[in-house]
Amino acid sequence: MAGDLQLTCSDCGREFTFTAADQSFFSERGFSTPKRCKPCRQAKKADQGGGGYGGGYGGGGGYAPRNTTGTTVVCSSCGQQTTVPFEPRGDRPVFCRDCFQAQKASGGGGGRGRDRGGRY
Ligand SMILES: [Zn+2]
Ligand SMILES: [Zn+2]
Repeated sequence: MAGDLQLTCSDCGREFTFTAADQSFFSERGFSTPKRCKPCRQAKKADQGGGGYGGGYGGGGGYAPRNTTGTTVVCSSCGQQTTVPFEPRGDRPVFCRDCFQAQKASGGGGGRGRDRGGRY
């Protein structure tokens, strides 16, 4: 027979009671031990309400939507004109495909800091 448990809410940090009744209720449904007190859980639930809680939440990184036309820029490395599928930011160097690949390949290899100061 399990007794009541004192748990600490990971949200508000308060202690709450995970009663024996709740424990059996939870294990019946295959839920694991709650990390939050009831008010916080309810708040969370309300938060997520109506949303499609897909598994891939937060994945994908910061991929900007594809700019279909592309933007014509001049490569900061070789000076060649090239088209990039994103809107370049003024404070960052833009590379053509070849130079970009080269940059990526050498990235982290110690050759960093090139043109870092930004002479413009
Ligand atoms: Zn709480
Ligand atoms: Zn280039």
